[in-house]
Amino acid sequence: MTTRILVLGAGYAGLFMANRLAKLLGAAAEITLVNDREVFVERVRLHQIAAGQDIGVHPLETLLAPGVRLRIGRVGEIRPDARKIRVDEEMLGYDRLVYALGSHAAAEPEHTYGIAGYDQALQLRDALPGKESVAVIGAGLTGMEIASELAECHPGLRVHLVDEFEPGHRLSPAARRHLGAAFDRLGVQVHTGRKCTGVTTAGPALEGSGTLPAELTVWAGGFAAPDIAASGGLPVDGSGRVPVDEFLRSHDYPEITVVGDAAAVQSRGTTVRMACGAGVPNAFYAANALANTLRGKQPKPLWFRFFAQNISLGRRDGVVQFVYPDDRPHRTVLTGRVAAKWKELVTSGGMAVSKRPWLR
Ligand SMILES: Cc1cc2nc3c(=O)[nH]c(=O)nc-3n(C[C@H](O)[C@H](O)[C@H](O)COP(=O)(O)OP(=O)(O)OC[C@H]3O[C@@H](n4cnc5c(N)ncnc54)[C@H](O)[C@@H]3O)c2cc1C
Repeated sequence: MTTRILVLGAGYAGLFMANRLAKLLGAAAEITLVNDREVFVERVRLHQIAAGQDIGVHPLETLLAPGVRLRIGRVGEIRPDARKIRVDEEMLGYDRLVYALGSHAAAEPEHTYGIAGYDQALQLRDALPGKESVAVIGAGLTGMEIASELAECHPGLRVHLVDEFEPGHRLSPAARRHLGAAFDRLGVQVHTGRKCTGVTTAGPALEGSGTLPAELTVWAGGFAAPDIAASGGLPVDGSGRVPVDEFLRSHDYPEITVVGDAAAVQSRGTTVRMACGAGVPNAFYAANALANTLRGKQPKPLWFRFFAQNISLGRRDGVVQFVYPDDRPHRTVLTGRVAAKWKELVTSGGMAVSKRPWLR
Protein backbone atom coordinates (compact mmCIF):
# COMPACT_ATOMS: atom_id res chain seq x y z
CA MET A 1 0.00 0.00 0.00
CA THR A 2 1.28 3.50 -0.83
CA THR A 3 1.81 5.83 2.13
CA ARG A 4 0.59 9.40 1.61
CA ILE A 5 3.20 11.76 3.02
CA LEU A 6 2.56 15.49 3.16
CA VAL A 7 5.57 17.71 3.76
CA LEU A 8 4.59 21.24 4.81
CA GLY A 9 7.15 23.93 3.96
CA ALA A 10 9.87 23.83 1.29
CA GLY A 11 12.60 25.58 3.23
CA TYR A 12 15.91 23.89 3.98
CA ALA A 13 14.41 21.22 6.23
CA GLY A 14 11.20 20.45 4.29
CA LEU A 15 12.80 20.35 0.85
CA PHE A 16 15.63 18.15 2.05
CA MET A 17 13.22 15.83 3.86
CA ALA A 18 10.87 15.45 0.88
CA ASN A 19 13.73 14.67 -1.51
CA ARG A 20 15.38 12.17 0.78
CA LEU A 21 12.09 10.42 1.54
CA ALA A 22 11.49 10.08 -2.21
CA LYS A 23 14.94 8.58 -2.66
CA LEU A 24 14.52 6.14 0.22
CA LEU A 25 10.91 5.10 -0.33
CA GLY A 26 10.45 5.30 -4.11
CA ALA A 27 7.07 4.04 -5.24
CA ALA A 28 6.13 2.99 -1.70
CA ALA A 29 5.21 6.61 -0.90
CA GLU A 30 3.23 9.38 -2.51
CA ILE A 31 5.05 12.54 -1.41
CA THR A 32 3.52 15.99 -1.72
CA LEU A 33 5.53 19.06 -0.78
CA VAL A 34 3.39 22.09 0.07
CA ASN A 35 4.84 25.59 -0.05
CA ASP A 36 3.44 29.09 -0.29
CA ARG A 37 5.79 30.21 -3.07
CA GLU A 38 7.23 28.62 -6.19
CA VAL A 39 10.82 29.43 -5.41
CA PHE A 40 13.27 28.25 -2.81
CA VAL A 41 14.41 31.14 -0.62
CA GLU A 42 17.93 30.94 0.80
CA ARG A 43 16.97 32.43 4.13
CA VAL A 44 20.54 32.48 5.33
CA ARG A 45 21.25 35.10 2.65
CA LEU A 46 18.36 37.46 3.43
CA HIS A 47 20.71 40.05 4.92
CA GLN A 48 22.57 40.07 1.60
CA ILE A 49 19.32 40.58 -0.30
CA ALA A 50 18.29 43.39 2.08
CA ALA A 51 21.65 45.07 1.52
CA GLY A 52 20.96 45.10 -2.23
CA GLN A 53 22.99 42.13 -3.48
CA ASP A 54 21.62 40.12 -6.40
CA ILE A 55 21.38 36.62 -4.95
CA GLY A 56 18.74 35.11 -7.19
CA VAL A 57 16.09 32.60 -6.25
CA HIS A 58 15.74 28.98 -7.29
CA PRO A 59 12.54 27.57 -8.84
CA LEU A 60 11.46 24.73 -6.54
CA GLU A 61 10.55 22.48 -9.49
CA THR A 62 14.23 22.35 -10.43
CA LEU A 63 15.22 21.12 -6.96
CA LEU A 64 12.77 18.25 -6.54
CA ALA A 65 13.72 14.58 -6.58
CA PRO A 66 11.72 12.36 -8.96
CA GLY A 67 8.50 11.36 -7.22
CA VAL A 68 7.99 14.55 -5.19
CA ARG A 69 4.84 16.43 -6.20
CA LEU A 70 4.81 20.18 -5.54
CA ARG A 71 1.63 21.87 -4.35
CA ILE A 72 1.79 25.66 -4.19
CA GLY A 73 -0.60 27.04 -1.60
CA ARG A 74 -0.84 28.37 1.89
CA VAL A 75 -1.28 25.94 4.76
CA GLY A 76 -3.99 27.51 6.92
CA GLU A 77 -4.88 24.79 9.36
CA ILE A 78 -3.93 21.32 10.55
CA ARG A 79 -6.42 18.87 12.05
CA PRO A 80 -4.28 16.14 13.53
CA ASP A 81 -7.21 14.12 14.88
CA ALA A 82 -8.70 13.85 11.39
CA ARG A 83 -5.25 13.58 9.73
CA LYS A 84 -6.06 16.47 7.43
CA ILE A 85 -4.60 19.86 6.58
CA ARG A 86 -6.11 22.82 4.76
CA VAL A 87 -4.20 24.33 1.84
CA ASP A 88 -5.95 27.47 0.62
CA GLU A 89 -9.58 26.22 0.33
CA GLU A 90 -8.79 22.52 -0.06
CA MET A 91 -8.54 19.83 2.65
CA LEU A 92 -5.78 17.25 2.05
CA GLY A 93 -5.52 13.94 3.90
CA TYR A 94 -2.30 12.22 4.95
CA ASP A 95 -0.95 9.06 6.53
CA ARG A 96 2.25 10.83 7.64
CA LEU A 97 2.80 14.54 8.04
CA VAL A 98 6.10 16.40 8.06
CA TYR A 99 5.68 19.81 9.66
CA ALA A 100 8.48 22.14 8.46
CA LEU A 101 6.95 25.61 8.30
CA GLY A 102 10.04 27.35 9.66
CA SER A 103 9.89 30.55 11.67
CA HIS A 104 9.27 34.27 11.47
CA ALA A 105 10.30 37.30 13.52
CA ALA A 106 9.15 37.21 17.12
CA ALA A 107 7.18 40.20 18.42
CA GLU A 108 8.10 42.65 15.69
CA PRO A 109 7.02 46.16 16.78
CA GLU A 110 5.36 48.73 14.53
CA HIS A 111 7.60 51.05 12.48
CA THR A 112 10.28 48.40 12.04
CA TYR A 113 11.58 46.50 9.04
CA GLY A 114 12.06 42.76 9.38
CA ILE A 115 14.77 40.48 8.09
CA ALA A 116 13.27 37.07 8.83
CA GLY A 117 11.39 36.62 5.52
CA TYR A 118 12.01 37.17 1.81
CA ASP A 119 9.34 39.84 1.33
CA GLN A 120 10.62 41.70 4.38
CA ALA A 121 14.17 41.65 3.05
CA LEU A 122 12.95 43.13 -0.25
CA GLN A 123 10.98 45.84 1.59
CA LEU A 124 14.06 46.82 3.54
CA ARG A 125 16.20 46.84 0.38
CA ASP A 126 13.69 49.10 -1.38
CA ALA A 127 13.40 51.49 1.59
CA LEU A 128 17.15 52.09 1.92
CA PRO A 129 18.01 54.34 -1.06
CA GLY A 130 18.40 57.94 0.07
CA LYS A 131 18.50 57.09 3.78
CA GLU A 132 21.37 58.25 5.95
CA SER A 133 20.83 56.29 9.16
CA VAL A 134 19.54 52.90 10.23
CA ALA A 135 19.27 51.24 13.64
CA VAL A 136 19.40 47.46 13.99
CA ILE A 137 17.75 46.22 17.18
CA GLY A 138 19.20 42.95 18.42
CA ALA A 139 22.88 42.06 18.24
CA GLY A 140 22.44 38.30 17.97
CA LEU A 141 23.90 36.44 14.99
CA THR A 142 21.31 37.83 12.54
CA GLY A 143 21.55 41.40 13.88
CA MET A 144 25.34 41.40 13.61
CA GLU A 145 25.17 40.05 10.06
CA ILE A 146 22.62 42.58 8.79
CA ALA A 147 24.38 45.53 10.45
CA SER A 148 27.71 44.55 8.85
CA GLU A 149 26.22 43.87 5.46
CA LEU A 150 24.40 47.22 5.38
CA ALA A 151 27.51 49.09 6.47
CA GLU A 152 29.66 47.41 3.82
CA CYS A 153 27.20 47.79 0.94
CA HIS A 154 26.12 51.36 1.83
CA PRO A 155 29.30 53.18 2.88
CA GLY A 156 27.50 56.51 3.46
CA LEU A 157 24.90 54.98 5.75
CA ARG A 158 25.20 55.46 9.53
CA VAL A 159 24.51 52.04 11.05
CA HIS A 160 23.66 51.64 14.75
CA LEU A 161 23.57 48.23 16.42
CA VAL A 162 21.60 48.17 19.67
CA ASP A 163 21.34 45.50 22.35
CA GLU A 164 21.21 45.04 26.09
CA PHE A 165 24.29 42.86 25.76
CA GLU A 166 27.63 43.15 24.03
CA PRO A 167 27.55 41.70 20.48
CA GLY A 168 28.61 38.08 20.63
CA HIS A 169 28.41 38.00 24.42
CA ARG A 170 27.95 34.23 24.29
CA LEU A 171 31.08 33.75 22.14
CA SER A 172 34.72 33.37 23.16
CA PRO A 173 36.87 36.42 24.06
CA ALA A 174 38.80 36.10 20.77
CA ALA A 175 35.56 36.15 18.77
CA ARG A 176 34.26 39.17 20.69
CA ARG A 177 37.51 41.04 20.13
CA HIS A 178 37.29 40.43 16.41
CA LEU A 179 33.64 41.50 16.28
CA GLY A 180 34.50 44.78 18.04
CA ALA A 181 37.35 45.48 15.61
CA ALA A 182 35.17 44.63 12.60
CA PHE A 183 32.37 46.95 13.71
CA ASP A 184 34.93 49.75 14.20
CA ARG A 185 36.33 49.16 10.73
CA LEU A 186 32.87 49.12 9.15
CA GLY A 187 31.77 52.18 11.10
CA VAL A 188 28.93 50.32 12.88
CA GLN A 189 28.13 52.20 16.09
CA VAL A 190 27.43 49.69 18.83
CA HIS A 191 25.09 50.67 21.69
CA THR A 192 25.21 48.10 24.47
CA GLY A 193 23.40 48.13 27.81
CA ARG A 194 20.43 49.65 25.99
CA LYS A 195 17.02 48.07 26.01
CA CYS A 196 14.68 49.11 23.20
CA THR A 197 11.33 50.04 24.74
CA GLY A 198 9.49 51.02 21.56
CA VAL A 199 9.97 52.31 18.04
CA THR A 200 8.59 55.40 16.31
CA THR A 201 9.24 56.85 12.87
CA ALA A 202 11.98 58.93 14.54
CA GLY A 203 13.89 55.79 15.61
CA PRO A 204 14.04 53.34 18.51
CA ALA A 205 13.40 54.52 22.07
CA LEU A 206 16.19 53.29 24.34
CA GLU A 207 15.65 52.87 28.05
CA GLY A 208 17.33 55.70 29.92
CA SER A 209 18.64 57.54 26.86
CA GLY A 210 15.65 58.68 24.78
CA THR A 211 15.23 58.16 21.06
CA LEU A 212 18.17 57.14 18.91
CA PRO A 213 17.66 59.12 15.68
CA ALA A 214 17.36 56.67 12.79
CA GLU A 215 15.37 56.93 9.57
CA LEU A 216 14.87 53.17 9.48
CA THR A 217 14.75 50.63 12.28
CA VAL A 218 15.45 46.96 11.55
CA TRP A 219 14.12 44.36 13.98
CA ALA A 220 16.42 41.42 14.66
CA GLY A 221 14.95 40.47 18.01
CA GLY A 222 14.65 36.70 17.60
CA PHE A 223 12.42 34.16 15.87
CA ALA A 224 9.20 32.30 16.69
CA ALA A 225 7.46 29.40 14.93
CA PRO A 226 4.07 29.88 13.19
CA ASP A 227 0.96 29.38 15.32
CA ILE A 228 -0.58 26.81 12.94
CA ALA A 229 0.60 23.90 15.08
CA ALA A 230 -0.80 25.38 18.28
CA SER A 231 -4.10 26.32 16.61
CA GLY A 232 -4.44 22.72 15.45
CA GLY A 233 -4.07 21.42 19.00
CA LEU A 234 -0.42 20.34 18.91
CA PRO A 235 1.34 21.20 22.16
CA VAL A 236 4.02 23.87 21.60
CA ASP A 237 6.67 25.59 23.70
CA GLY A 238 6.96 29.34 24.45
CA SER A 239 8.24 30.15 20.96
CA GLY A 240 5.59 28.11 19.13
CA ARG A 241 7.89 25.15 18.42
CA VAL A 242 6.58 21.60 18.66
CA PRO A 243 8.38 19.47 21.27
CA VAL A 244 9.50 16.20 19.67
CA ASP A 245 10.74 12.81 20.82
CA GLU A 246 14.12 11.29 19.97
CA PHE A 247 12.77 10.35 16.50
CA LEU A 248 11.63 13.96 15.85
CA ARG A 249 7.95 13.04 16.15
CA SER A 250 5.31 14.99 18.02
CA HIS A 251 4.87 13.38 21.44
CA ASP A 252 1.10 13.40 21.05
CA TYR A 253 0.83 12.54 17.35
CA PRO A 254 3.67 10.18 16.38
CA GLU A 255 2.50 10.20 12.75
CA ILE A 256 3.64 13.85 12.65
CA THR A 257 7.39 14.45 12.20
CA VAL A 258 8.59 17.99 12.91
CA VAL A 259 11.84 19.36 11.46
CA GLY A 260 13.69 22.66 11.10
CA ASP A 261 12.96 25.80 13.10
CA ALA A 262 9.43 24.55 13.93
CA ALA A 263 10.81 21.64 16.01
CA ALA A 264 11.84 21.97 19.65
CA VAL A 265 14.55 19.30 19.54
CA GLN A 266 16.18 18.29 22.82
CA SER A 267 19.85 17.47 22.68
CA ARG A 268 22.45 17.36 25.44
CA GLY A 269 20.09 18.87 27.99
CA THR A 270 18.98 21.92 25.97
CA THR A 271 16.59 22.87 23.20
CA VAL A 272 18.54 23.10 19.96
CA ARG A 273 18.57 26.71 18.67
CA MET A 274 16.89 27.56 15.37
CA ALA A 275 19.53 27.18 12.67
CA CYS A 276 20.08 25.69 9.29
CA GLY A 277 23.03 23.93 10.85
CA ALA A 278 20.52 21.94 12.90
CA GLY A 279 17.59 21.80 10.48
CA VAL A 280 19.41 20.15 7.58
CA PRO A 281 21.19 17.31 9.42
CA ASN A 282 18.09 16.68 11.50
CA ALA A 283 15.92 16.48 8.37
CA PHE A 284 18.40 13.93 6.97
CA TYR A 285 18.07 11.94 10.18
CA ALA A 286 14.25 12.29 10.31
CA ALA A 287 13.86 11.06 6.72
CA ASN A 288 15.92 7.95 7.53
CA ALA A 289 13.96 7.38 10.74
CA LEU A 290 10.58 7.73 9.02
CA ALA A 291 11.60 5.51 6.10
CA ASN A 292 12.80 2.83 8.54
CA THR A 293 9.59 3.03 10.54
CA LEU A 294 7.49 2.62 7.40
CA ARG A 295 9.57 -0.44 6.49
CA GLY A 296 8.87 -1.94 9.90
CA LYS A 297 12.38 -1.32 11.29
CA GLN A 298 13.11 0.39 14.60
CA PRO A 299 14.99 3.67 13.94
CA LYS A 300 17.95 4.71 16.08
CA PRO A 301 17.39 7.81 18.26
CA LEU A 302 18.66 11.16 17.02
CA TRP A 303 22.32 12.01 17.55
CA PHE A 304 23.03 15.68 17.10
CA ARG A 305 25.77 18.16 17.88
CA PHE A 306 26.73 21.64 16.72
CA PHE A 307 30.25 22.20 15.33
CA ALA A 308 30.46 25.94 14.83
CA GLN A 309 28.63 29.24 14.72
CA ASN A 310 29.40 30.99 11.43
CA ILE A 311 28.95 34.76 11.31
CA SER A 312 29.47 36.87 8.20
CA LEU A 313 30.67 40.45 8.67
CA GLY A 314 30.12 41.65 5.15
CA ARG A 315 31.57 39.68 2.22
CA ARG A 316 35.24 39.82 3.19
CA ASP A 317 35.21 39.24 6.92
CA GLY A 318 33.63 36.88 9.40
CA VAL A 319 33.95 34.83 12.56
CA VAL A 320 33.79 31.06 12.77
CA GLN A 321 33.28 30.19 16.41
CA PHE A 322 33.95 26.50 17.00
CA VAL A 323 31.71 25.09 19.73
CA TYR A 324 31.45 22.13 22.07
CA PRO A 325 28.72 19.61 21.22
CA ASP A 326 26.21 21.53 23.35
CA ASP A 327 26.95 24.80 21.44
CA ARG A 328 29.15 26.37 24.16
CA PRO A 329 32.02 28.32 22.57
CA HIS A 330 35.42 26.71 22.30
CA ARG A 331 38.40 29.03 22.44
CA THR A 332 39.23 28.21 18.80
CA VAL A 333 38.02 30.74 16.25
CA LEU A 334 38.68 31.62 12.63
CA THR A 335 38.42 35.28 11.67
CA GLY A 336 38.82 37.55 8.66
CA ARG A 337 38.82 36.36 5.04
CA VAL A 338 39.30 32.69 5.93
CA ALA A 339 36.16 32.84 8.08
CA ALA A 340 34.25 34.65 5.31
CA LYS A 341 35.26 31.94 2.83
CA TRP A 342 34.33 29.18 5.29
CA LYS A 343 30.91 30.72 5.88
CA GLU A 344 30.33 31.06 2.12
CA LEU A 345 31.26 27.40 1.65
CA VAL A 346 28.79 26.31 4.34
CA THR A 347 26.07 28.59 2.98
CA SER A 348 26.39 27.39 -0.58
CA GLY A 349 26.57 23.81 0.74
CA GLY A 350 22.84 23.87 1.48
CA MET A 351 22.04 24.61 -2.15
CA ALA A 352 24.65 22.18 -3.43
CA VAL A 353 22.92 19.35 -1.56
CA SER A 354 19.54 20.25 -3.03
CA LYS A 355 20.92 20.49 -6.56
CA ARG A 356 22.86 17.22 -6.56
CA PRO A 357 20.66 14.12 -6.32
CA TRP A 358 23.52 11.87 -5.18
CA LEU A 359 24.00 14.05 -2.07
CA ARG A 360 20.37 13.83 -0.92
C1 LIG B 1 19.15 36.77 7.81
C2 LIG B 1 19.27 35.36 8.34
C3 LIG B 1 20.52 34.76 8.39
C4 LIG B 1 20.65 33.47 8.88
N1 LIG B 1 21.90 32.89 8.90
C5 LIG B 1 22.03 31.63 9.35
C6 LIG B 1 23.31 31.01 9.37
O1 LIG B 1 24.31 31.60 9.01
N2 LIG B 1 23.39 29.73 9.81
C7 LIG B 1 22.29 29.02 10.20
O2 LIG B 1 22.42 27.85 10.59
N3 LIG B 1 21.06 29.58 10.20
C8 LIG B 1 20.90 30.86 9.78
N4 LIG B 1 19.67 31.44 9.78
C9 LIG B 1 18.52 30.65 10.23
C10 LIG B 1 18.01 29.74 9.11
O3 LIG B 1 17.66 30.52 7.99
C11 LIG B 1 16.80 28.95 9.57
O4 LIG B 1 17.16 28.22 10.72
C12 LIG B 1 16.33 27.99 8.48
O5 LIG B 1 15.89 28.70 7.34
C13 LIG B 1 15.21 27.08 9.00
O6 LIG B 1 14.85 26.20 7.98
P1 LIG B 1 13.37 25.66 7.90
O7 LIG B 1 13.32 24.76 6.74
O8 LIG B 1 12.91 25.18 9.22
O9 LIG B 1 12.48 26.98 7.64
P2 LIG B 1 12.47 28.00 6.43
O10 LIG B 1 13.76 28.03 5.72
O11 LIG B 1 11.94 29.26 7.01
O12 LIG B 1 11.38 27.40 5.46
C14 LIG B 1 10.01 27.34 5.76
C15 LIG B 1 9.23 27.20 4.47
O13 LIG B 1 7.84 27.10 4.78
C16 LIG B 1 7.11 27.99 3.96
N5 LIG B 1 5.90 28.34 4.71
C17 LIG B 1 5.82 28.99 5.91
N6 LIG B 1 4.54 29.11 6.28
C18 LIG B 1 3.80 28.53 5.33
C19 LIG B 1 2.40 28.29 5.17
N7 LIG B 1 1.51 28.69 6.08
N8 LIG B 1 1.98 27.62 4.07
C20 LIG B 1 2.87 27.20 3.14
N9 LIG B 1 4.19 27.37 3.25
C21 LIG B 1 4.65 28.03 4.32
C22 LIG B 1 8.07 29.15 3.71
O14 LIG B 1 7.74 29.89 2.55
C23 LIG B 1 9.38 28.41 3.56
O15 LIG B 1 9.57 27.97 2.24
C24 LIG B 1 19.50 32.73 9.30
C25 LIG B 1 18.24 33.34 9.25
C26 LIG B 1 18.11 34.63 8.76
C27 LIG B 1 16.74 35.26 8.69
